Amino acid sequence: MKIKFLGTGSGQTSLNRFHSSFLISSSEHNLLVDCGDGISKAILKQNVNFNSIDSILISHFHADHFSGLPSLLTQMKLLSRKNDLTIFVHSSEKDFLEDFIFHSYLFKERITFDLKMISFDVEIEIKVSEKFCFVSKLNSHLDKYKKYDSEYKLGFTSLSFYFKDDENSVIYSGDVGSENDLYLFDQKVDWFITETTHIKKENVLELLEKSDPKEIILTHIGDDFAKPLNEFRQSLPNHIKSRIILAFDGFELNQYHSGCL
Ligand SMILES: [Zn+2]
Repeated sequence: MKIKFLGTGSGQTSLNRFHSSFLISSSEHNLLVDCGDGISKAILKQNVNFNSIDSILISHFHADHFSGLPSLLTQMKLLSRKNDLTIFVHSSEKDFLEDFIFHSYLFKERITFDLKMISFDVEIEIKVSEKFCFVSKLNSHLDKYKKYDSEYKLGFTSLSFYFKDDENSVIYSGDVGSENDLYLFDQKVDWFITETTHIKKENVLELLEKSDPKEIILTHIGDDFAKPLNEFRQSLPNHIKSRIILAFDGFELNQYHSGCL
């Protein structure tokens, strides 16, 4: 498995980092996780071929995680994409996403490729390709919107994920409501990718101790938080520091990487 970080910024638009997104490559399948505002430029900047992306998974519907989708689909159309593209979306958001794409004038008959929408539910294993799968769990990031959700029956969902292939295992926190959401999965993984906007620096150390992943990768880093986060990491003893990575746009994880930056 290889993971390339296309964006590592927070919800605040920045000139230093694109919004959070990464590409998981496994078993000859490339899965894009999240596609917020500016994703098409982030992909170009990292020299990734738009049409090498086989599928897209969306963690939740804040603008920094999904709103670049119409632009991305348009780039694929302009490049006369022929391969099918799959979008994995939670079942409660499928109708909205289909409408969103339709209202972006991306009509199925007028694009050059087959766009498949696969809906899934939490806690059910979804096979992405032969040896590559994920499971999602509901986190509390959107609990603050419960009032609107129950009034309009919209089924808002913010998800955390566990990914696995025949080489590696990964947890991605998605955007969380609090540090408690870091412990939704019991699995011990190679890489724990966590956002840093809705947790404290100290929570990272607790996570390392309690969940014991090989490495923790910090992302969703706001401009104001980048310096204190880096200073915090630098202050740690070497054996801990070497297991905590501050991701940056273009950072790549693979089974051979050294872990130290
Ligand atoms: Zn976010």
